Amino acid sequence: MSFYPPSWVPELPFDPPDSITVADFMLDEYHGRHPLGYAHAPFTCGLTGKTYSALDVKDRVDYLARGLAKELGWHPNQGTEYDRVIAVFSVNTLDTLPLAWATHRLGGIQSPANAAYSMAELEYQLTNAGAKALFTCLPLLKTAQEAAKKAGIPDNRIYLLEVPEQFAGGQRPPSGMKTVDGLIREGQEEPRLEALNWAPGDGAKKTAFLCYSSGTSGLPKGVMISHRNVIANTLQYCTFEKPFRDKKRSPVNQSDYIEHALGLLPMSHIYGLVVICHVHVYRGDGVVVLPKFELATMLQSIQDHKINSLFLVPPIIIMMTKNAKLLAKYDLSSVWTIFTGAAPLGEETAEDLQKIFPSWSVRQGYGLTETCTVVCATSPDDVWFGSSGSILPGIECKIVSPEGKELTGYDQPGELLVKSPSVVIGYLKNEKANQETFQDGYMRTGDEAVVRKSPAGHEHIFIVDRIKELIKVKGHQVAPAELEAHLLTHPAVNDCAVIQVPDDAAGEVPKAFIVKSPSVGLEESDLMTARHIQKHVERHKARYKWITGGIEFIDVIPKSPSGKILRRFLRDKEKGSRREK
Ligand code: AMP
Repeated sequence: MSFYPPSWVPELPFDPPDSITVADFMLDEYHGRHPLGYAHAPFTCGLTGKTYSALDVKDRVDYLARGLAKELGWHPNQGTEYDRVIAVFSVNTLDTLPLAWATHRLGGIQSPANAAYSMAELEYQLTNAGAKALFTCLPLLKTAQEAAKKAGIPDNRIYLLEVPEQFAGGQRPPSGMKTVDGLIREGQEEPRLEALNWAPGDGAKKTAFLCYSSGTSGLPKGVMISHRNVIANTLQYCTFEKPFRDKKRSPVNQSDYIEHALGLLPMSHIYGLVVICHVHVYRGDGVVVLPKFELATMLQSIQDHKINSLFLVPPIIIMMTKNAKLLAKYDLSSVWTIFTGAAPLGEETAEDLQKIFPSWSVRQGYGLTETCTVVCATSPDDVWFGSSGSILPGIECKIVSPEGKELTGYDQPGELLVKSPSVVIGYLKNEKANQETFQDGYMRTGDEAVVRKSPAGHEHIFIVDRIKELIKVKGHQVAPAELEAHLLTHPAVNDCAVIQVPDDAAGEVPKAFIVKSPSVGLEESDLMTARHIQKHVERHKARYKWITGGIEFIDVIPKSPSGKILRRFLRDKEKGSRREK
């Protein structure tokens, strides 16, 4: 049995186009879609108030594309999009999305990397993606340069995105290093670019963004997100929201409502990239960009820029509920909704937040990099804490048992399968993972879900567990296989397995079970060995991957006859010992 959007959800106004780029959809089409046209500002800096109007953005994209073409010697219709991969390793900036759209104009790909990455993690992505150029920002320049060198990207192919001066800590760009503004100035002297000569269907086959996700198992993989995938999910989300957005508009003047969204979550992650940036810019709203999370700065920006919708992850909401006194110091009356995703939001946390802000609509969405974000979301009219909401238009879901049998009733847990024009092309250079994940037109999410009926009579999806090997720390992905491979390089580790354990602040954190190597001397205490191993992780991995859930030494890692780690066994063991404590 398939599950579809409830009857109140409008149908998509048109089939997501498959022969234009994301840039065309965002810049050439959207002028006609918002009654205020070019007058509003898609991107404003939350720290300095610097802003670009829609017209500025359109011009910047155009000139940046010309500047890049000259700088890199690229032509829109030569080679494939994989010859033109531009990586971005930066905090959020006003130009991150314009850079992506300029890259699209050249027929290229943007591959955004997590700004928390270590040098080795960035090098992995640059190499795997085959990046030819790298855009970074001053605070991350050193890491970017080291990783680029190892990945064979020359120094003169590293460029800077602008961050607010106070954030750059007074650093100045090294002489000779080009910036986005510099490339735009050069582009102004260049002729117009020839148009991409795409055939119908190319937009569904060509990659626009190469984001990294470990999927259901193994190491992080390049997720090939097509132009049509981004267009589809943008359209799906905007259509889903239309009924309650229309209510916000005055019946007399339909153009009087522009939503200001908080652009704090990383634009390198699919949630920040699509739901915050593409959705809001497409429908003529504004994104208030912040480079980094800091509670007081976030609250100040909400107050200063009269932000209406907060897009957050559960750990930030938990922090908000624990700091009600600080929240009370700011005027947050412009906010009407808060939307959370990327990891489960506990019902108690939602209730706590609702008590502080009774008028806010506390909503949750569920999605994945592999579905180019949102599959389902709660609507303001049908909020149900714990639920991930109703299915978006153009999406069909199934729930299947471990044996692959379709489950037909409510409240029957099984793996969630998704069919949607937003389901991505697949993983780069990884046929095995593609075969496991994309089957008969459906994407296997690796998440366990049930369908329940809300008091209003609508079907809601609840995510009840995660079957796949993935840990979500503050909404960031941590692949157990990546940590295990790294732990095995430590001389004290003979064998290991990493699982998630609950954490009040981060949602979940990694814990490692380790079989000690016989080479570890008896004189070294377990505590010391554990500390050495922790340090080994801290030296090479981003902070959110650190083994803060602890290390437990065991005699043997439970494995199936084929050698697969029996994580469920370790998770149950962990649950048991937590209950005893
Ligand atoms: P990512 O590709 O980084 O967005 O990670 C996707 C995964 O995050 C999903 O497969 C889920 O395991 C988890 N996730 C995202 N949203 C939710 C949610 N609302 N509730 C529970 N888990 C979620």
